[in-house]
Amino acid sequence: MKIELVKGDITTIKADAIVNAANSSLLGGGGVDGAIHRKGGKAILEECILIRNRQGGCATGHAVITTAGLLPAKFVIHTVGPVWNGGSKNEDKLLHDCYKNCLQLAFEHHLKTIAFPGISTGIYHFPKDKAAEIAIDTVRNFKNVKAFDRLIFVCYDEESHEIYQKLL
Ligand code: ADP
Repeated sequence: MKIELVKGDITTIKADAIVNAANSSLLGGGGVDGAIHRKGGKAILEECILIRNRQGGCATGHAVITTAGLLPAKFVIHTVGPVWNGGSKNEDKLLHDCYKNCLQLAFEHHLKTIAFPGISTGIYHFPKDKAAEIAIDTVRNFKNVKAFDRLIFVCYDEESHEIYQKLL
């Protein structure tokens, strides 16, 4: 298993799955969520609506999987990161759960390459350095990590890219 670092737009990544930093409604939003739905087309939203009708959205820390529609990836794994609230609302554990549950879902679907954005580090304001530490730590310690070929961290901005570069 290789860990890779890429600077750029996750919607361009040809992986078995790209991860979306969604919100609990699963109906789309801003940031990476907006980009994925915009470029992936309506098939993604249609599957999100089916999941919503079945289980009423997605709770913080949990993950669901849909088609990637028109994107080069095969699947989108939607996870809902915690909103940063100063650190006293279990944010670290919830962010850890996001990465872990995405990996678990990917493992169950026999996926080999997964690309992650910096979940919660945009509109949800989780501190970028702390979030990167949790992301790397969770991925490295995932019990079935050897089942994957490549895990890719996709950084959209220079600051995040530098943080990951240092940590990796
Ligand atoms: P959240 O609500 O979980 O904070 P955001 O989408 O606002 O989600 O931001 C999560 C991270 O994704 C941020 O670091 C942001 O810079 C980054 N991001 C935004 N657009 C893209 C994109 N197209 N590809 C990869 N990362 C992106």
